[in-house]
Amino acid sequence: MKRISIDRRGRRLRDALLAVASATGVVLAVVAAPAVGRAAAGPCTVGYTVNQWTGGFTAAVTLTDNGGAITAWTLTWSFGGNQQVTSAWNATVTQSGKSVSAASLSYNGALASGGSTSFGFQGTYSGANDTPADFALNGQLCNGGPTATPSATTPTSASASATVSASATASASASPSASPTPTSTGGACLSASVFCDDFESQTIAIPSGRWSVYEPNCSGTGTASVTSAQAHSGAKSLAAAGTAGYCNHVFVRDAGDMAAAAPTWYVRFWIRHDTALPTGHVTFLAMNDSAAGNTDLRLGGQNGALVWNRQSDDATLPVQSPAGVAQSVVLPTGAWECVEFSVNRTNGQIYTWYNGSAVPGLTEDGVSTPDVDSQWLSGTGASWRPNLTDLKLGWESYSGGNDDLWFDDVALSNSRIGCS
Ligand code: CA
Repeated sequence: MKRISIDRRGRRLRDALLAVASATGVVLAVVAAPAVGRAAAGPCTVGYTVNQWTGGFTAAVTLTDNGGAITAWTLTWSFGGNQQVTSAWNATVTQSGKSVSAASLSYNGALASGGSTSFGFQGTYSGANDTPADFALNGQLCNGGPTATPSATTPTSASASATVSASATASASASPSASPTPTSTGGACLSASVFCDDFESQTIAIPSGRWSVYEPNCSGTGTASVTSAQAHSGAKSLAAAGTAGYCNHVFVRDAGDMAAAAPTWYVRFWIRHDTALPTGHVTFLAMNDSAAGNTDLRLGGQNGALVWNRQSDDATLPVQSPAGVAQSVVLPTGAWECVEFSVNRTNGQIYTWYNGSAVPGLTEDGVSTPDVDSQWLSGTGASWRPNLTDLKLGWESYSGGNDDLWFDDVALSNSRIGCS
């Protein structure tokens, strides 16, 4: 009798919910209750909730410490398929092959006995996207071991969307209070003759349309994706989680539009990053130069300031002397900055503007100036006439230097675009 009573209550609850749904037009997404509560929990309990769409997903992970108090945590697991983490929040998430490690940050590492915390990440996948079965906290298996896996709560209805949480910070190390600060570009894009892309039409984390992810060397932990964690305009931007190391070079690339802006390519973009440019050489923008053996013309940082680098002969603009570096600009962290440049195929000249002002140290005007373009124009450099065939935004770090970067309102034109 008791069981019948419970069944009736359950039926009443279900009927009441359906009535509410019917009255409000709300579609109920029924999710499976985690099985972890019924299993021997072990030293830790992990909840894993996925919101997925074709090609991408976000995962919300809750971690409960069932053992003694801890001051820092590392949660590890392995994916069963080809899932690839592209960004994370409230944890530093790294992936090697199928193995993933999420480490606590300074503000959420301490857990009392019985305490919980949560973090999340965004990723890509194809095929199956099953819940990992081997979560381990600081090396100890959670959820009673691999046979007591929680059920994934994976809505397959139309409610799954490409929109990631607005509170997500693509930077694993960014403050959890970081939030999008959308601003309008106004008419800034109207003067771009080829394109101006605010990334608002991108529907999944994997860049599409004119953009595709490009790993020039080998595939590592560096990632590039569309994110809603930061935006200069609207709600989306391109994110590059840049990591030092040859295999971590990664870009979002447009290989189809450069010809339309020749013979003088004007590029304008907003950039934001969270780590100061290092002493060593890094690149956040590269363009293939088919006139120089398909090597890259690179814009990035060296000695803490912006620098142009010609891959074919490693010439820099400005010369990396103290007097030269002083004529470039430092890219501050935590703010959107407007960078514009022009590269002329006919005479090889380069002009660069930072928030609307010309940067003397990033100017190659065809007349050799000590500490500025004297190295760039020396020898065969005087006859350098680039033919740029792609535009790549992302990260290459050659001697050390990690950074999280965002790009928005990227424009290509045959005349100057401006920042307004
Ligand atoms: Ca945008």
